[in-house]
Amino acid sequence: MNSNPYSDLLQTQNDFFDSNQTKDLKFRKGLLQRLYQVIEQNEETMFEAIYNDIGKSKLETIATETGLIKSEITHTIKHLNEWTAKEYVPTVLANLPASSYIISEPLGTVLIIGAWNYPYLLTFQPLVSAIAAGNTVLVKPSELAVHTSALITSIINENFEANVLHVVEGSVKETTNLLMLKFDKIFFTGSTTVGKIIYQAAAKHLTPVTLELGGKSPAILTADASIKLAAKRLVWGKFLNSGQTCVAPDYLLVDSSIQEQFITEFKKQLIAIYGIEPEKSEGLTRIINLPNFNRLVHLIDTQKVIHGGKSNTRSLFIEPTLLFPISKEHPIMEDEIFGPILPILTYQNLEEAIQLIKEKPKPLALYVFTNSTKTKNRILKEISFGGGGVNEALVHLGNHNLPFGGVGSSGTGNYHGKFGFDNFSHKKAIHEKSNWFEPNIKYPPFTPLKTKLIQWLLR
Ligand code: NAD
Repeated sequence: MNSNPYSDLLQTQNDFFDSNQTKDLKFRKGLLQRLYQVIEQNEETMFEAIYNDIGKSKLETIATETGLIKSEITHTIKHLNEWTAKEYVPTVLANLPASSYIISEPLGTVLIIGAWNYPYLLTFQPLVSAIAAGNTVLVKPSELAVHTSALITSIINENFEANVLHVVEGSVKETTNLLMLKFDKIFFTGSTTVGKIIYQAAAKHLTPVTLELGGKSPAILTADASIKLAAKRLVWGKFLNSGQTCVAPDYLLVDSSIQEQFITEFKKQLIAIYGIEPEKSEGLTRIINLPNFNRLVHLIDTQKVIHGGKSNTRSLFIEPTLLFPISKEHPIMEDEIFGPILPILTYQNLEEAIQLIKEKPKPLALYVFTNSTKTKNRILKEISFGGGGVNEALVHLGNHNLPFGGVGSSGTGNYHGKFGFDNFSHKKAIHEKSNWFEPNIKYPPFTPLKTKLIQWLLR
């Protein structure tokens, strides 16, 4: 008797995968079209659920969740024939006469584990890629986003057969049980701490993983930056979803010669965008739960508050809060903030800013606000980070032509668009030999002439 509660479910998915039905492109496109319809039919309920979880507005839910998922589906269906086509590559001279090509084949049954901060996007977007690549899929949304987790479960499980796509709800206990099983791929989005647990569990089965993790993502402002525009874009990028965004700027590094001008402008933009009573703004969400709220409130060093700082336990609301001046040794510089608190540090020369970033683990994102090509190029060349922007924050993740993922402790692997399809595929390399000619060079006896020929061919 098998004691793992998910063994049977996994077995039905493995069996279905083995039936080869997911290898049919029409079948995959049908699932993607169905997913699109399911989202469209349930979109109003999805707006309600996410509002109940974190108070996110309809517009923002479309812009950062359902709209992005729909456009990912449309883009994927449009390109699926091209992505799945046999890819011919040149054959090296020594192997001729032959042809060489790559076949993208599905991996099997994959497990997708989501985070709560963009609960739809972080489960559905990898799901689109996993289906497109021809896998059977088990999804585990985050239990912290209670309403969206329940809704994702019902809309998927009511509309898809469990043997091809199924959602399992749960927290640590359920995820631990799932992780005991052998999947063909695990795609995880969440914290670096839990990422290590996932990696270890996967290693037991040699299961490949993609880890979409977090970290402290910096934004650098140089003396020649367009201050007003930089402030406006940074306010949006930092406080969208109340800072609960994996690629939100975690801290600012500002050239000391523009610090006063920038801070004045930043405060102006905060008021222009969220008003003088930010709690009434529909552009600011709530903190996900009381433990996170308490964690964030404790991070607010009241001696350093230069804007905001107030919070409301009942509504789990924290004002956009600026802390200044902050040193690199301040406690807020230790871990990812993941909330609406922004520490501002200053630097005297660019070298200092680069050093400070490089002393920390490689960030998921980095943003540089500058009008100097030389400075931009230096930063892009010298600092390793997952992805990011020049004179913009966050927006790179909305382009399915760019790979999205971290590097080092901010993650491994990437997805979105074709990168997502490739992530959930195995690239099978084929050398197809023609039968009209068989050179004898590789067969003994080895003569001096053959040695010379091999040296020439592999020069
Ligand atoms: P989390 O790591 O606490 O949880 C993520 C998932 O892991 C959830 O589904 C949860 O149920 C599961 N989980 C939690 N503890 C577990 C355990 N001990 N064993 C097995 N599974 C466990 O992360 P979170 O709080 O949901 O999300 C916040 C973090 O995620 C931040 O660090 C953020 O930067 C990161 N994040 C990264 C991305 C990205 O794309 N790189 C996107 C969103 C969030």
